[in-house]
Formats: sequence, structure tokens, C-alpha cells
Amino acid sequence: MKKWFLMPLVAAFLFVGCGEKFNKPKLVVFIVVDQGMPELLEKYNHLFTGGYRWLKDNGVSFSNTHHEYGYLVTGPSHYVLSSGRNPGNGGVIGNYWFNRDTKESWYCVQDTFATNVINGKESLSYRNIDKTTLGDWLKESNPNTKVVSISGKDRAAILLGGKNPDMALWYGKQGGYTTSTYYGSKLPDWVISFNSHLNVSSYVDTVWNRLLPESIYISNTRADFYKGEADWSQKDGYSPTFPITFDELGVESMLGSFPYIPFGDEAMLRLGVIAAEKHELGEDENTDILFLGLSATDGVGHEFGPHSHEQLDNYLRVDRHLGSFIESVESSIGSGNTLYVLTSDHGSIALPEYLKSEGIDAGRIPKPMKDSLYADVKTKIDLHVGKNKVYRYGNFFYYDTSMHQLEREAATDILKSNLSKLDGIRSVITKKEILDGGNSIYERRLKNMIHPQKSPDVFLIPKKYWTMRYPYGASHGTPYDYDTHIPFVLSRGGSKSRINSKRVESVDIAPTLAQYLNVQFPKDIDGKALNLDE
Ligand SMILES: [Zn+2]
Repeated sequence: MKKWFLMPLVAAFLFVGCGEKFNKPKLVVFIVVDQGMPELLEKYNHLFTGGYRWLKDNGVSFSNTHHEYGYLVTGPSHYVLSSGRNPGNGGVIGNYWFNRDTKESWYCVQDTFATNVINGKESLSYRNIDKTTLGDWLKESNPNTKVVSISGKDRAAILLGGKNPDMALWYGKQGGYTTSTYYGSKLPDWVISFNSHLNVSSYVDTVWNRLLPESIYISNTRADFYKGEADWSQKDGYSPTFPITFDELGVESMLGSFPYIPFGDEAMLRLGVIAAEKHELGEDENTDILFLGLSATDGVGHEFGPHSHEQLDNYLRVDRHLGSFIESVESSIGSGNTLYVLTSDHGSIALPEYLKSEGIDAGRIPKPMKDSLYADVKTKIDLHVGKNKVYRYGNFFYYDTSMHQLEREAATDILKSNLSKLDGIRSVITKKEILDGGNSIYERRLKNMIHPQKSPDVFLIPKKYWTMRYPYGASHGTPYDYDTHIPFVLSRGGSKSRINSKRVESVDIAPTLAQYLNVQFPKDIDGKALNLDE
């Protein structure tokens, strides 16, 4: 039986003056910037003139918002934001995980029934996830509500959109946006038309250069040429600097990586404007919701690190593109009728080379060294425990369900004694040790990532400021604050800018919006609705 939870309407007067009547927004625009970091929004705040400026100047920023789980990657985190559940409770534990029954890899939005409407190949959807999300709660409360979700990344669009959206669109690697038969039998004409004008292949001829004078970049962040950054051109030896040309990448590579460069987000936001118009979002009294997942900040961050000139430039471009988007929504739906939410799925570590220069004990765990240790461990487990007993999946280890207690203990001993030798590893820890652990923030984050059946049996946790990304770039996926700290801004045109520094968990975002919209949400989620008037 479904249990529903309805909070009293305490948030009703957010963004309106005393004595004014609360107007429910006609539209909610829920923006998730993949790898969007509060630290960078703050660092570059004085340079913003577009969307980031407008959102901050017209709303409340919750400056102390964190994901409270331990394996911070795109799939689980988007799902946390839309469902109010941590991965342990929600069951989306990674982008991929190992299915113990089939002994195969499982993608978080895999759907063996659905097909891609463009090419007929097996596709993706929300079908195999049983919990509901904010969009579903809105639809349960009012079937006339419309829910549309768009992102460069399929898992972002699908996990934000939930079980029953009117449309979910993602970039389909063949040069355009697509969907699966779970959402509709064919691609809407307006998406076909958008795709036909997109011409992604032609972007190989573009040059990505700084938007503003170089002096602004020099005075606001570290050097452009920095060891540890990826070099996309390799033209004159190692030269990870602007300008970046794409001609050497080739058309195939451009088709695949389009969402992860700033041009991809610009296109996605233009599609967002068209989608709002075609679905008539915000045009009547039923509150609609548009989810937008921006992917380039993650792509640029992985390659060049958060403090690069490239990432500063990307933030400036997102600011501009979001500015145009908001301008367009405000003019078509009317000032103050849209509630914007800005948040993120995770942050990132800085380049270890940069952290070292700041005097921090930081580093990369070399992949060749890790792989050779993994090979040693496999030989030892095969010999002492047996073959096909322990499955390595990335940096996780799964025990076969047939293993008895003594075999498990022997395997755990081998994994711990060998893998803890790796420089940069904080702990080799079992699922049981995590569940039996204490209640510090760190231990709680680890517990919240554990799903009793799906989670691996043994985890490798890197030390703080150490990464398994090798040999270049930066990444995320840890329980540390640089990964868990996310922006959370709620804005409506004309509202006063303020900062609220109380501790907020990412699972609170969906129920807080539900309460604001006077919509019921399931009682067994992990999040709680915040009182926005505090
Ligand atoms: Zn990422």
C-alpha cells in the first residue's frame, strides 16, 4: 500500500511579500549542472552577467547543501535529486553495476524491451526502476500536469523525468536528440526538425577559444598550461591550452562527445525552449515541470580539472546560455510565473598536480600498478578460494552467492592484505563493515550508498585528495566534500536574493519542491521538506 505524506503549507509564502497571496508557479524549471560546483560559482560570481547572475539575484541559495552518500556519480545522483531517496533506499547504486544473477553488467537505465525510435536498437528508459519521482508526484496529484526532461546524457534525462513523463529526450550519439519507445512510438516532428538543423559534424571545423580577454582568466584562476590536464590536440607536443581545435578529433569522435563540450549545452538549452513551447508548458494553471540536465561542465571538468581556463570559460558560456534561456521563458510565460531550481549531481576533485602545488598530500593511483595488483589478487583467490567465486567489476568486488562464510573470509583477507598496499587507498572495506560502522558524516555517507542485494561485497575507498583518474584529468565518486557539495538555488523573478547556510541534504530537494507545490510525496523517502521561510 502506498503511504503518502503531506506537509502543511508552510512554504506557501516564499518569494512573496507579507500579506500577498501565494501564487503557485505555472512552471518549474529544474536545472541540474553535471559537476556544477558551489566553489566555482562563488569564485567566478563577479564575472557572471547571465543565467547564473539572474538565479542568484532572484532567489535563495542554500550554501551548505550536500549529497549524503558515498559513491557520487551521474546516475545515482540525478535519481537522488528527483526521488528524494539515497541509492541504498532507491536501488540506483551506480551508473553501472554487476548483476549477480546474470553475471553481466547492468546499466542504470537499461531497458531490454524499449527500442531507440531513430535506429530501432535496444534502448533505455525508467521501466526497471520501481520508485517514483517529483514529476510522478505532480502527475498523481494532477493528471493535467506536464513533465518533460531533456539532457545530453540519457541517464540524466531518464532519471530526472521519472516513471511517467510526457517526454524524455537525450543526445543519441548519432548527431541528434532521441528517445525510446517507452516514451513514444516516434520522434516528435519538432525534434526531427531540430536535429536536421543541428549539424553536429560541422563542429569539427570550430575552434573553442576564450569568450573574454585572456587577462581575466589569468587573474581569476591558475595557469592555462598545467600538467595533469588532458591535451585534445597534441599538435605541438603536450600543450593543454586554448585555443582548442576539433579537426583532429574527427567526425566520429565529435558525434560522440558533443554534449560534453560547451556547444552541446547551448544546443540542449535551445531545444529546451522549443520543447516548452511545443508541450505548452506553463500555459495554464496546472504547474508543469521541465528538467534540464547540462552535461558539458562534467565533460570539461574531467578533462581539464575544475580550476582550468577551459572550465572557467565553460562556466561563462553556461551563464550566457542559461541567461538566454531564462529570458525566453520569462518573456513567454510571464515574469514570476516560473520557479527555477539550480543544483548538481556531484562536484569533483581538483587536479592532484594542482593540489600538490598548494601543499596538499594528493596524488593519482597509477592504473598499471592497480591492474597488476588486481591480477595478483585474482591468482591468489583462484588458488586459495576457487575459480569464478569473486568477480571484479571496475574497482568493486562481488562474491558469488554460492560462497560460504569461510570462503568469503578468505577472499576478504586476500583483497585487504594486497590492495591496501596501493599508495593512495584509505581502506579496503566490506559491505558488512560499512553497515556496522558508526555515525560520522563519512560513515553515514558510506552506509547510504549500500543496497542490501545489489551493492558489491568489497569497496576500495581512496584517500582524500587521491584519485583513480589516470594519467590525466579529474574525477568524482568519493564521499569527500569536494564531491558531495552541490549548489541548491531556488529562484523566482523579483524575489529578494539571500543566502541560507543551514545544512541541507540533496534528498530534501524533491520533497521541498513537492511541499512548495502542495503535492503529496511518499512517506518512505529519505528526504524531508524544508521550511523555506526560515
Ligand atoms: Zn563525471
